[in-house]
Amino acid sequence: MKPFAVFPLHQQQDLARVESFEHSRFLAGGTNLVDLMKHQIESPEQIIDLSGFEQAYQINENDNRVTIGAMVSNTELADFAYQQPGLSLLAQALLAGATVQLRNRATTGGNLLQRTRCYYFYDTTKPCNKRQPGSGCGAINGFNRIHAVLGTSEHCIASHPSDMATAMTALNATVHTQNASGETRQIPVRELYQLPGDTPHIETQLAADELITAVSIDKTPRGTHIYQKVRDRSSYAFALVSVACTLQVKDGIISDINLACGGVGPKPWHAQAAEEYLRGKSATTELFKQAADVELSPAKGSGYNDFKIPMLKRTLVHVLTQATEQQQQHPEHEGAIYAR
Ligand SMILES: Cc1cc2nc3c(=O)[nH]c(=O)nc-3n(C[C@H](O)[C@H](O)[C@H](O)COP(=O)(O)OP(=O)(O)OC[C@H]3O[C@@H](n4cnc5c(N)ncnc54)[C@H](O)[C@@H]3O)c2cc1C
Ligand code: SF4
Repeated sequence: MKPFAVFPLHQQQDLARVESFEHSRFLAGGTNLVDLMKHQIESPEQIIDLSGFEQAYQINENDNRVTIGAMVSNTELADFAYQQPGLSLLAQALLAGATVQLRNRATTGGNLLQRTRCYYFYDTTKPCNKRQPGSGCGAINGFNRIHAVLGTSEHCIASHPSDMATAMTALNATVHTQNASGETRQIPVRELYQLPGDTPHIETQLAADELITAVSIDKTPRGTHIYQKVRDRSSYAFALVSVACTLQVKDGIISDINLACGGVGPKPWHAQAAEEYLRGKSATTELFKQAADVELSPAKGSGYNDFKIPMLKRTLVHVLTQATEQQQQHPEHEGAIYAR
């Protein structure tokens, strides 16, 4: 690891005192950034250490909305969300991610901005347009079993790894930021990430001096919540495919639906085409199959990851069927039915 300076940030206003952001990186839990620094994929000259950013450790709520500070750990957020019917999708997704030790350390801001797990990105002996623009892509004709099938380009087929971000995409969360000039922005998480196109090294619309301060989510009722993650092992593994779903069915008709998919796109995939296909129609298995076909019609495998297309279709149908059954059995229930 190369030597670096440390700038401790205690409050948002401290950003104004940072001299240059060009070779700086924000450090939250460090569970991704420090790995990247050890591999010399990231070699910042200055770390902006967020551990003393007191205000960002808080979760605030009112009747309609919850605001989660960027430094809230994944464990603390999962505990909080578990007790909130309107956020049970988030609790399920967080608890499906990584391990207890990692969740204790990983933060809300860092989880949203963690980098891809593409093997070629981490192997500095291999070409990678994301790590080194213009060098090529090792994965497209390589071992691409974990890679994306939606929203890819001829320059990059990496998938986004975050379970939490997939749930937040379904829940239509909003990211709050502040930059060094003190300007603030609110960005829907659905618009935060960029598709790779011919610039796969640019992953989000955030500027180098833009700090995530918090994430907020509406507490509106959304019916039954299910997060289903399909992976190689039952813990400590990223999603091959995942589905985040909230569903409300009234008199057999789908009145509200939110769907996002993980492991299949360069960003948490908002399954908007499927949502539009389903809304206002009668909830049947045949309809669910048609909606999955609609969403996945532009999907493209790269060889080893071809299996993800039928796997995601089956997972979507399974989750929608389960959610409908739960709604029929517990029409007044909001959130997940947790086993006791
Ligand atoms: C073995 C292993 C298994 C894992 N399994 C899973 C899994 O199954 N599911 C899953 O979702 N994740 C998984 N993870 C990833 C883990 O969740 C992330 O590493 C973690 O969430 C990143 O959070 P952090 O706070 O440690 O971020 P850091 O490593 O500190 O930062 C990550 C990135 O975010 C930037 N950043 C951090 N905070 C801010 C901020 N407030 N504003 C602007 N930029 C910021 C940093 O500059 C950096 O680029 C796994 C990780 C490991 C090592
Ligand atoms: S898929 Fe993207 S991250 Fe992976 S090697 Fe290709 S360019 Fe790099």
